[in-house]
Amino acid sequence: MPEIIIPTEFLPVDGRFGCGPSRVRPEQIAAFATEGAKLMGTSHRQAPVKNLVKRVQDGLMDFFHNPDGYEIVLGNGGSTAFWDVASHSLADGKAQALVHGEFGAKFAAALQAPWLTAPTVIKGEPGSRLELEAEAGVSLYAYAQNETSTGVSTPVKRVASADSGALFLTDATSAAGGIDFDPLETDVYYFAPQKNFASDGGLWLALMSPAAVARTEAVAQTSRYIPEFLSLKTAIDNSRLSQTLNTPAIATLFLLAEQVDWMNAQGGLAWAHSRTAQTSKHLYDWAEASQYATPFVTNPDHRSQVVVTIDFAAEVDAAAIAKVLRSNGIVDVEPYRKLGRNQLRVATFTATELSDVEKLTSAIDFTVAQLAK
Ligand SMILES: *Cc1c(COP(=O)(O)O)cnc(C)c1O
Repeated sequence: MPEIIIPTEFLPVDGRFGCGPSRVRPEQIAAFATEGAKLMGTSHRQAPVKNLVKRVQDGLMDFFHNPDGYEIVLGNGGSTAFWDVASHSLADGKAQALVHGEFGAKFAAALQAPWLTAPTVIKGEPGSRLELEAEAGVSLYAYAQNETSTGVSTPVKRVASADSGALFLTDATSAAGGIDFDPLETDVYYFAPQKNFASDGGLWLALMSPAAVARTEAVAQTSRYIPEFLSLKTAIDNSRLSQTLNTPAIATLFLLAEQVDWMNAQGGLAWAHSRTAQTSKHLYDWAEASQYATPFVTNPDHRSQVVVTIDFAAEVDAAAIAKVLRSNGIVDVEPYRKLGRNQLRVATFTATELSDVEKLTSAIDFTVAQLAK
């Protein structure tokens, strides 16, 4: 097969559409080269790096609408580590987990720990979702605000008539920074910086309610063995001093701080929300109008505005499209590997310009026409 060259008029300025790591804005990198570089190689126990952590914490509190009494806690290991942090330090008794894809399933698996009662798992089909349900005896509810493997989103909402004191844990890894929500509707809103926050991986961050902090304290006082690295109490104590238990990646923190400040300056979370709504709408509208593409998520209420999954007709090979795009500098639109569909998956995170998404759909149309020749 001869190589397909996509004309420059169809090429986005930035060809990165992956779901994490995701595009980093050039302005963040430029700021890193000057201001960020001064912090590299200096101690995370001294004021300059602690001030950077504080800048991230304060910026995120503003961005998340400053809910009364909530705090920003952080630690190393990314969202994957936070699942184990939660099962060791927050879960107690029985949990209920909503699952309709890989990420929800991973948290549900972490809640199968031997010191907990087996959780209720509400399992829906990938590409759609079910709802959490009030269940007597459940003290923790878990769900992903955006299931990144399928492009399905779930509203951030407590379950009416859940037991009093039940905590709500929102895996917001790919939603945070791109979808607006009411923080009072959840207790732990956790995420990592390599998605809408346009930074690098390796950290977890959590917006925690007073009830979640109180639960952490209560669990820490039981006889349960909690490894130090998975102790949320240790993370809270350190975060209150704008530190982490062990050495964080300073570059990750710096790029994150730049993105949070930028988003706040643009109009905050409401602004980010309207931006991702617009970029994702372009893709959904394009797919619905297309002869060969269709949104994988059929129910518009379930469709994510930050991760768009598009199925292709059998005669069009999505993997071949992704290969051509990649050789032309448009990368990471391959579907989630385990989903196994004839699909492309596109992140429309907050750093992504509408004009770039418009170029992407014309590049796909051009490629499909060339492949059919
Ligand atoms: C990316 C992602 C994760 C994993 O994040 P890591 O920081 O790589 O551990 C977890 N949950 C969701 C919903 C994600 O999108």
